[in-house]
Amino acid sequence: MSLKLDKARELDASDALKNKRSEFGLDNDQIYMDGNSLGPMPFAAQKAIEQAINIEWGKDLISSWNKHNWIDLPQSTAAKIAPIIGAKPHEVICSDSISINLFKLLSAALSITKDRTEILSERGNFPTDLYMVEGLSTLVGQERVQLRTVKKSNIIDSINDKTAVVLLTHVDFRTGEMLNMEEITRKAHQHDALVIWDLAHSAGALPLSLDSLEVDFAVGCGYKYLNGGPGSPAFLFVAEKHLKTVRQPLSGWMGHKAPFDFSPKYQAADNIEKFLCGTPPILSLSALNGALNVFEEVDMADIQKKSISLRKLFLDCLADEPTICEALHLLTPTPIEEHGSQLSFAFEQAFELSQALIDQGVIVDYRAPNVVRFGFTPLYLSHQEIVKAAGILTELIVNKAYLNPKYQTRNKVT
Ligand SMILES: *Cc1c(COP(=O)(O)O)cnc(C)c1O
Repeated sequence: MSLKLDKARELDASDALKNKRSEFGLDNDQIYMDGNSLGPMPFAAQKAIEQAINIEWGKDLISSWNKHNWIDLPQSTAAKIAPIIGAKPHEVICSDSISINLFKLLSAALSITKDRTEILSERGNFPTDLYMVEGLSTLVGQERVQLRTVKKSNIIDSINDKTAVVLLTHVDFRTGEMLNMEEITRKAHQHDALVIWDLAHSAGALPLSLDSLEVDFAVGCGYKYLNGGPGSPAFLFVAEKHLKTVRQPLSGWMGHKAPFDFSPKYQAADNIEKFLCGTPPILSLSALNGALNVFEEVDMADIQKKSISLRKLFLDCLADEPTICEALHLLTPTPIEEHGSQLSFAFEQAFELSQALIDQGVIVDYRAPNVVRFGFTPLYLSHQEIVKAAGILTELIVNKAYLNPKYQTRNKVT
């Protein structure tokens, strides 16, 4: 282990992102490996919220809609996300949650692929993505929208002339498996189908190039790798070529061409603003807007490079201990370079193990039924922390300390 620590020290010394850690409010006696579930607080987000509360809401009150540009916050925040996902600023907007944005985008896509009804997805997709298709199908009828789910390995072969929309999550939330966005998008387009990519576990974690891959639509999460805070608004992306013609059904006043005309007739904005619905949550958006400053001048290639280095080191440390290799089953496909910024393991007492790790200061999470997830977030994790976390995990498993009954209590959120 001490050899590994020496190596980790060396890697940390030459780390291009080493100064980023100080931009986060993180406790040094915790190793935070759950940024893929809730990113930690950047001080820039704290500052932005303080400004929004003390000055903007606290003093300037309603004049802040103009004076502090509250009205443009969904666009100005999205403009900071655009370079992270390889999009143009006017193709992205921050609003609502991923679930609600999926409803808008599914409807929008179906307004283009008019006579087709099939939404193709994947069985292991994040449940809300599938639930939203079901809900839409119930609303408009099976003859208009049907959900078809297949195994990951069958996605490519299942895209055909019946497919209206391919709806997929780029990086699997359970295993970290990353789908081939380029190949799937190209195949969909060969059959005149459209794609909607869920980037919840990609945006902020690895380089993305939505425009150059000609992706039609995408959604992503504000509170995971983008560190926008609990319940932070999500974002959505609409390719420029669809922006003019596409429609979405949640025609709230903020999506109107001229909301302050208070016209009785809805007329959609002719740009990305048509995807807004109601009043934006200014306090949460302010936090996300501030949080995104952390990414200024960060090269996403550096983030991916360090993520790979952290993940490899973690696996190297575990490989030193034969008991671990037998007990933990790596669910993340290999080579890990080709997959998302996490490592997931199946373990019989996964819940208890996750609780024991948290108790020892290694913050991870558990996903039912038997998965322990380790998130690797290069902006604030060091190689030395990874070696320590691997050491704690090894000890817990060797000593079976997770069997302590105190690790069995389950709360509402697991
Ligand atoms: C976290 C996550 C979501 C969250 O959806 P919300 O509606 O914003 O709560 C959606 N999709 C995936 C793949 C996720 O990991």
